[in-house]
Amino acid sequence: MVSVPDQLKSRHIVVAPNWIGDTAMAAPFLASLRAVLPGGRIEAVANSWTAGLLRAFPWVDEVHAIGARDGLEWWKSALSLRGNLGRRGTETVWLLPNSFRSAVLGLLIGGGRRVGYATDKRGFLLGRAVAPPPGSPPPHLIDYYLGLLEAEGWPVAHRGVRLPVTPEAGRFAEAIFAKKAPPGEGPLIGFHPGAAFGESKTWPADFFARLAKGLAEGLGARILLFGGPNETELADWVSSASDGAAVSIAGEDTLETLPAILAGLDLFLSGDTGPLHIAALAGTRTLSFFGPTDPRRTAPPGAHHRMLRRELECSPCFERLCPLGHHDCMKGITPEEVEEEVREILRAGVRATE
Ligand code: SF4
Repeated sequence: MVSVPDQLKSRHIVVAPNWIGDTAMAAPFLASLRAVLPGGRIEAVANSWTAGLLRAFPWVDEVHAIGARDGLEWWKSALSLRGNLGRRGTETVWLLPNSFRSAVLGLLIGGGRRVGYATDKRGFLLGRAVAPPPGSPPPHLIDYYLGLLEAEGWPVAHRGVRLPVTPEAGRFAEAIFAKKAPPGEGPLIGFHPGAAFGESKTWPADFFARLAKGLAEGLGARILLFGGPNETELADWVSSASDGAAVSIAGEDTLETLPAILAGLDLFLSGDTGPLHIAALAGTRTLSFFGPTDPRRTAPPGAHHRMLRRELECSPCFERLCPLGHHDCMKGITPEEVEEEVREILRAGVRATE
């Protein structure tokens, strides 16, 4: 194992990714950092909508949230963090986002050596500007983040990690299941019909409803619909269109409790969304739909996760709304083929960790 100099076993700040899914995929980076800094302090700086997930991570000692998305309020929030953080000594500020702004944030809050990829013309702001990996597509995002540790000559202890469930979150999940899960002994399956990124990543809502009916009738599956507070209407629509085969719990969880709920499922289905990556981190099997994004970059890795996609010339387009207007990458995946895939996954074994 590469030894880490003593002066580096102190305080490290990690500027976290801006998306929930990317934050989940940063878990192996944080776990590996923790492994080489058992006595060190790891603090994360995140935006307010991902901070809750980081607070559920056992590898992070403290999370500082930036309250605003952009503009003057963002600068005020960053400067106030500088007041809090700047007084304490920092060895290294790790920049996981590629943006110029994250390097400016690192400069404002840190005082330590800034390590990040030399992207977005920000190399001059970094103490260690790591050359992005060559080739296309870039490596899986998990490996991309770990590449910063490797560039520093630090060992990567964890490529795959599982997020432990805290007793408190576990109790919350049990209460949700007791209150909302349909009765019976059938497999408990989660669907996430929405996507914060944009409509292009979503599988059609009526397909989710048809699938729910098919799985409930054919397998006795008990289906819960997930979503954030602004996705309750969509989840309610799917529930109603499925004649109640799927029950909505959208808006009832928080990012601190969501991993525990997902960990209690037998399978989770979603597009390339934040909850998909949290489910994978929680050790739950996933079946995902990919269209506008690149599965080589972000599909949950490992034998317990399956992915469906159509081979289209336009895919991946990385657009939030289908620029061609037809959304064939998602509409081309039928409820019947997904149902068959679900049956196969469940036949192969129920839990990812077994
Ligand atoms: S352009 Fe192609 S990949 Fe992008 S959303 Fe439309 S159908 Fe999907």
